[in-house]
Amino acid sequence: MLNFRVREEFIETLTKCLERPANFEEAMFLTTANPYELPLLLKAALYIKEKYFGKIVTYSRKIFVPLTNLCRNKCAYCGFRKDPGTPGAGFMNFEEGMKIVKLGERLGAKEILVSTGEKPETVHSEAKKALRKLGYSSTVEYVRDFEEKALKETEHMLPHTNIGVLSKEEMAELKPLNASMGLMLETISERLMEKGMPHEHSPWKHPKIRLKMIREAGELKIPFTTGILIGIGETWEERIKSLLVIREINREYGHIQEVIIQNFMPEPGTPMEHHPPPSPIIFLKTIAIARLIFHRETSVQAPPNLSLSAYQTLLLAGINDWGGISPLTPDFINIRYPWPKISEVKKVTEELGYILRERLAIYPKYIVKKWFPKTLERRILKIVNTNGLVRRKYELF
Ligand code: SF4
Repeated sequence: MLNFRVREEFIETLTKCLERPANFEEAMFLTTANPYELPLLLKAALYIKEKYFGKIVTYSRKIFVPLTNLCRNKCAYCGFRKDPGTPGAGFMNFEEGMKIVKLGERLGAKEILVSTGEKPETVHSEAKKALRKLGYSSTVEYVRDFEEKALKETEHMLPHTNIGVLSKEEMAELKPLNASMGLMLETISERLMEKGMPHEHSPWKHPKIRLKMIREAGELKIPFTTGILIGIGETWEERIKSLLVIREINREYGHIQEVIIQNFMPEPGTPMEHHPPPSPIIFLKTIAIARLIFHRETSVQAPPNLSLSAYQTLLLAGINDWGGISPLTPDFINIRYPWPKISEVKKVTEELGYILRERLAIYPKYIVKKWFPKTLERRILKIVNTNGLVRRKYELF
């Protein structure tokens, strides 16, 4: 005898969430979807995705330049950060970085994801010394000069900076060089900063610090990418509240171009190497509920490389974007999880009846609204069509 049934309240709640974005109580109720209700939740998310984004699913053809793997935080799940003095720790020099950028451009990439550990020079004397040797006093200055060089020496490439917490002044300094910027909120939970929790040794992962930066990016009108990391010990309530605070900020400033729903994956050699990743069901539920929370407000994205054997299923939960995919560099943050080939992503997207299109690091709607710096105007408008998507002649699969 099967005990599951579709509850009337579940249908009522879903119906309301089709008409307008979900509130906290509704989103929390949807997390209780039983096996009979889950397909309805996915169907509702898919309906909203198609209503606002049609058949198009986007991605950004990018390369990844990790200018330093040193960091002032020590997140318990991080497989990217290295301790000063250990093999492979340090700064990438400009020559090495530019080699990636130029090769990426030849392979049709248009986004330079400049990602680093966060301001290591503020806590590690080795990082300070290494920067001084390169002629710099901070990681931000180093990134700024690298991006200037990259813009000078390429035709189509557009930086997207994601180097941890920045002050408003630092963001303003980098703004003319960037198509967009990013910082994962990860979680609103201060509990995860307590002893024995993943952010115990990461004082700059405090949600208040990160929310401040996300808000200030809005004040500066910088198209912004953020998101949540799921499966690191947060509760459903903390997950939903994290999504809702992002929505609240976006309603005030209108700058959140995409929300990434990222699943934790264990990295060997880290304190959380034996911590299980979130189940596929939790991941799908979170994506679907995110879709019902954001409706058309922001793009909902999930990375295909962290669900490699079944990433096609993420489309069934209502994502409308695959994020940045590199035809050249690995995902340095999740080094054990290579991106699928872009031709493969196109194939699995089309198998479900969708159309894969390339976008830039700045989302189409912000191009149409002209939220880009004057300095990048010519380069952006040359590549995109009137809808803000990459023109067919510049797309490569
Ligand atoms: S996840 Fe980011 S902030 Fe945390 S230790 Fe790694 S590089 Fe630093």
